[in-house]
Amino acid sequence: MFQLLNNDNLQVAIIGGGPGGLASAIALSALPNVEVTLYEKARELREIGAGLNIGYNSWRVLELLGARHEVNGHLIDEVQQRNGIDGALLKKRGPSALPVKYQSRRVRRTRLQRALLNQVPAGIIHLRKELTSIEDVPKGGANLKFSDGTVAFTDLVVGGDGIRSVVRQTAFPDHNIKFTGTTIWRTLVSRSLISYIPDVPTCTSWWHGTAGHVYFSPVDDPSETDEKDQLIEISARFLVDPETDNAKRWSWGVPTTNENVESHFTSYDPRVREALSKVPKDNWKEFSAFAGPRLNELHAWNKLVLIGDASHPLTGAFGSGAAFAMEDGWILARSIEYVFSTSANETSTFLKTDRLKKVVEIFDEIRSPYYARMYEHLDNMKARFAGISGTFESRLQARVSAFSEGGLDWIYQNDIERVWKDWLENKSNPTAIQEGGSFVSPSL
Ligand SMILES: Cc1cc2nc3c(=O)[nH]c(=O)nc-3n(C[C@H](O)[C@H](O)[C@H](O)COP(=O)(O)OP(=O)(O)OC[C@H]3O[C@@H](n4cnc5c(N)ncnc54)[C@H](O)[C@@H]3O)c2cc1C
Repeated sequence: MFQLLNNDNLQVAIIGGGPGGLASAIALSALPNVEVTLYEKARELREIGAGLNIGYNSWRVLELLGARHEVNGHLIDEVQQRNGIDGALLKKRGPSALPVKYQSRRVRRTRLQRALLNQVPAGIIHLRKELTSIEDVPKGGANLKFSDGTVAFTDLVVGGDGIRSVVRQTAFPDHNIKFTGTTIWRTLVSRSLISYIPDVPTCTSWWHGTAGHVYFSPVDDPSETDEKDQLIEISARFLVDPETDNAKRWSWGVPTTNENVESHFTSYDPRVREALSKVPKDNWKEFSAFAGPRLNELHAWNKLVLIGDASHPLTGAFGSGAAFAMEDGWILARSIEYVFSTSANETSTFLKTDRLKKVVEIFDEIRSPYYARMYEHLDNMKARFAGISGTFESRLQARVSAFSEGGLDWIYQNDIERVWKDWLENKSNPTAIQEGGSFVSPSL
């Protein structure tokens, strides 16, 4: 049974209302005696950034959060890889062999956010609350300080405040992120605006150039959106050398002009240029990608834990960053439930602070090795591509082949509930699945 000593509630403060923060709020508020408050710096929870991939890993965690029924989106039944310069089709793949309900879909970010928000109990989210610093209270808990001058006490801090995390910066002041060289421009346009352009509006397609690509995908399912209201996502990437770059960079969605975006893709196939030229004015948002080294631990002070982008500033999130963030939130809730129920009968000297120490350690034991594996994979891919030389066409072919060869089921087929069950089984049979002292789910 889940129990706290002296009927004392466990106060959990979540910083940030992105997919990680919202998933944590849903999973944690389902636990008895846990008092959840979510602090978000924005005036309103308004998603920007166009679309998101929702694959098996996301569907599973959305099921666990009770939010999957509200998420639909475009069924990715065809993906084309093209040479973006001459338009040649390099590779085409159809739907996966998974049951339809678990197949990948491209979803409007706003719809994922709404589905999550609808599951968060009323009164938990506090907007216009920008965290500025955290003070560790030695006897237990922490004081959160906000830009409006207010202070709030909490037992456990959950840092879900994204890539530029104040929580991470407070706990790990020596950790730094920097611009990776990739700029991303994103928008959603009415499908009717570009429906006449051959090969662009009907399926998910990647048009690769010499220093970037342009991506198109529908984001709506006909069952949820009338044809006249359906949108197409356009996401365009351009890479510069980060060592020589000195332009001002933002990590999250600032407006930019059509001329700026189009100027980076003038050598592309006419179909791509035509589609870009149809984007209405003031519709583009510019994102600069930031990344940093892996953190050895996702927790600090025995009372602070990092989730989502705050915890793993990767150079590439495999189109699954939102899934990772939601999985983190769900695993954190399981860790709390486990510790507070299994230690319910321990002596009264086993304090809330001791239990929280165990909670953050379990969370870290499960999630750190997973992120370590991602960092390792990205390093391997970088080394592999650095070794590819030849013409643009031959290098592109090699990249497309590498990305199509699979081997990432441990990400895309991750079932977070299975991971948790494996961890529980491992607890009762600790010699069964140890790899380098870390927990690795045997299902992967
Ligand atoms: C261009 C682009 C394309 C992407 N495409 C995909 C994709 O296809 N699929 C996918 O799964 N992922 C994708 N991602 C990644 C995905 O968006 C992130 O991994 C995901 O949003 C991480 O969720 P999060 O909750 O950790 O952080 P975020 O979504 O960044 O949310 C952090 C929240 O914290 C708030 N906050 C920040 N600082 C403070 C503070 N000091 N005080 C209070 N609140 C604060 C912010 O306002 C924000 O609401 C993409 C990202 C980018 C930039």
